[in-house]
Amino acid sequence: MSEKFDAIVVGAGPAGISCAHDLAKGGAHVLLLERGEYPGSKNVMGGVLYRKMMEDIIPEFYKEAPLERPIVEQKFMMMDKESAVTFSYKGMEWGKEPYNNFTVLRAKFDQWFADKAVQQGAILINETVVLECIVENGKVVGVRTDRPNGDVYADVVVLADGVNSLLAQSLGFHKEYRPDEVALATMEILKLDKKVIEDRFNLEDNQGCTIELFGDATKGILGTGFLYTNKDTLSIGVGTLLSGLIKHKIKPYELLEYVKSHPMIRTLIQGSEPQEYLAHLIPEGGYHSMGRIVGDGVIVIGDASQLVNAIHREGSNLAMTSGRLAAETILLAKEAGDFTEKTLDHYRVRLLDGFVGQDMKKYKDSTHHFDQNPHYFDQYIPMLNRAASQMFTVDGQSKWEKQKKIWKDLGSPKEKMKMARDMYRAWKVVK
Ligand code: FAD
Repeated sequence: MSEKFDAIVVGAGPAGISCAHDLAKGGAHVLLLERGEYPGSKNVMGGVLYRKMMEDIIPEFYKEAPLERPIVEQKFMMMDKESAVTFSYKGMEWGKEPYNNFTVLRAKFDQWFADKAVQQGAILINETVVLECIVENGKVVGVRTDRPNGDVYADVVVLADGVNSLLAQSLGFHKEYRPDEVALATMEILKLDKKVIEDRFNLEDNQGCTIELFGDATKGILGTGFLYTNKDTLSIGVGTLLSGLIKHKIKPYELLEYVKSHPMIRTLIQGSEPQEYLAHLIPEGGYHSMGRIVGDGVIVIGDASQLVNAIHREGSNLAMTSGRLAAETILLAKEAGDFTEKTLDHYRVRLLDGFVGQDMKKYKDSTHHFDQNPHYFDQYIPMLNRAASQMFTVDGQSKWEKQKKIWKDLGSPKEKMKMARDMYRAWKVVK
């Protein structure tokens, strides 16, 4: 490959495809390299796709994209071993155009999205691993691939290679992530009749529901489980910090089996057949773990720069926004004929000033706080369940009597003070 490009984008996930799409649309000569057989073949997501950020790239994409269901209900289950307190919001406005968000299967969606980038003029080459960046005089000038004569050159290289980003690491942009900076998630796609899904989850045709699982779903380790409805499949999974799995000596697939057999979940997935098993890391170190994201001739986007908002299970939207802003910056740099860090820094400023940077800063201490204080999950959630059981069991005791029992269950005055302090600290790290 002797041709020189305006930009090479490494990795065809939501970040890389968004960037390649907008670059090509803006008239740039762009190469998109993907190590998988096709875009999406190596990608894992629960999969909630957020409409707004996708529409910023392809308006009204929902009229043709391979989506599963528009989500009309979001549930949050606070689970104990044999019970759950559930909060939910269901709104019919989310079931109508322009919708709020959708469930997707990444293997299908990423292929469709990459085709859109190709239609704009991007050149996509699959089954190509980028081994390293080519650096000359401190500036990234291209990439070395695993293909024969596989060096390719460009004015700028965009690293969209996902969570580990060995390429950014090898440039010294970040260190190898610690086990408390990444979560390991395992998930299954379960085949289930469409009508059964709709009856079981109280949905009409073309309506979907998401359930996030807290507490016992992760055996008290920092993380969450999830159960999402697709057209005729369910996506079920659980992700926890790698450090938690190591500390508790729990194997990720055992945790997934535990969630699947939980009394609050097993009836929802009953009769389904496993279709696919997937596992992937999620960057959850947050703002403090973000390394350098801009250098001479290089920009880092998406998971490769730790852009995940774990509290709100958002990742794909941050990836797409970072890809779009990187493309915008590169097109400006192309106009100016200057690809130095100084010019490309426009991307970092735009990213951090917008909702991505604001949200990353808002939750910057949350992962560490909840990881260091597991009692939110293994003590307070069971307490909430006992309180609900006490209050809603009709057994001839007065409600005053019940309130007294609940109050007593909270422990000694010292323990109650600790709990009040914990609630205040939790509020402080998410406010
Ligand atoms: P990726 O999607 O990881 O794409 C990186 C691409 O780069 C891959 O295609 C990979 O094959 C390729 N690549 C890597 N190295 C190389 C190389 N050296 N050469 C060539 N190609 C390379 N986010 C949400 O918004 N909603 C959710 O519901 C949600 N649920 C999730 C559930 C799970 C189980 C997991 C694991 C993640 C979830 N996320 C969710 C997060 C979301 O998946 C990521 O934030 C998003 O995929 C990041 O996109 P990306 O393009 O940066 O990286």
